[in-house]
Amino acid sequence: MTDAPAFRATVLTLYPEMFPGHLGYSLAGKAMERGQWALDAVQIRDFATDRHRTVDDTPAGGGAGMVLKPDVLARAIDTVSDNDTRPRLLMSPRGKPLTQKRVRELAAGEGVIIVCGRFEGVDQRVIDARQLEEVSIGDYVLSGGEPAALTVLDAIVRILPGVMGNDLSGLNESFEGGLLEHPHYTRPQEWEGRDIPAVLTSGNHGAIDKWRREQAVKLTRERRPDLLDE
Ligand code: SAH
Repeated sequence: MTDAPAFRATVLTLYPEMFPGHLGYSLAGKAMERGQWALDAVQIRDFATDRHRTVDDTPAGGGAGMVLKPDVLARAIDTVSDNDTRPRLLMSPRGKPLTQKRVRELAAGEGVIIVCGRFEGVDQRVIDARQLEEVSIGDYVLSGGEPAALTVLDAIVRILPGVMGNDLSGLNESFEGGLLEHPHYTRPQEWEGRDIPAVLTSGNHGAIDKWRREQAVKLTRERRPDLLDE
């Protein structure tokens, strides 16, 4: 494949060997092999300048843990983003929660630069000075940004053109129409005394669409009423 990949991800991390991780498998892995997207994992420690390759230091003001140094991280960011207009994300539990809407915007662009935090986090000055967009994958705390970065990239890559086997299968998905998706069934027709809802085997596509829509609204009302408010 001679064309440049449509989507380029660069991840800054202290654990580059964690990448591409699960993204090397299945549809994302095949799309990567075909050159539809590319992933470069860059070792932050390579940008430390002292003899011990120090990347972190104790928190100003005291307290537990260590903080990633701004100078080292900025050098890493500047090196990978020379003349680069890709959005720069920082994985952070304090960030804006990731949504399918933001995933779609990111997937429509040329790529992303993702910084993975570790320890207590990163020095605030580098977040401000390099305009890092803090993104959270949920209201819980991970030990590092790497699984969060893999999650963000997974959500992006699966909707890149041509990556999913059937491009249409994304259209009705959870969150796409502001609703959770309807339930799915497949053969056998009867399993442990439970039947597939009759409407789904009726061949009446109008009735099937209506039933799915009703189920989606019902599920959303029960589980995620906040989505209906939006
Ligand atoms: N002390 C910080 C948590 C640090 S966790 C706080 O209380 O806010 C270490 C790193 O894991 C973070 O820098 C971040 O990169 C990553 N991380 C942890 N939870 C995350 C989440 N929910 N979403 C995205 N990244 C997360």
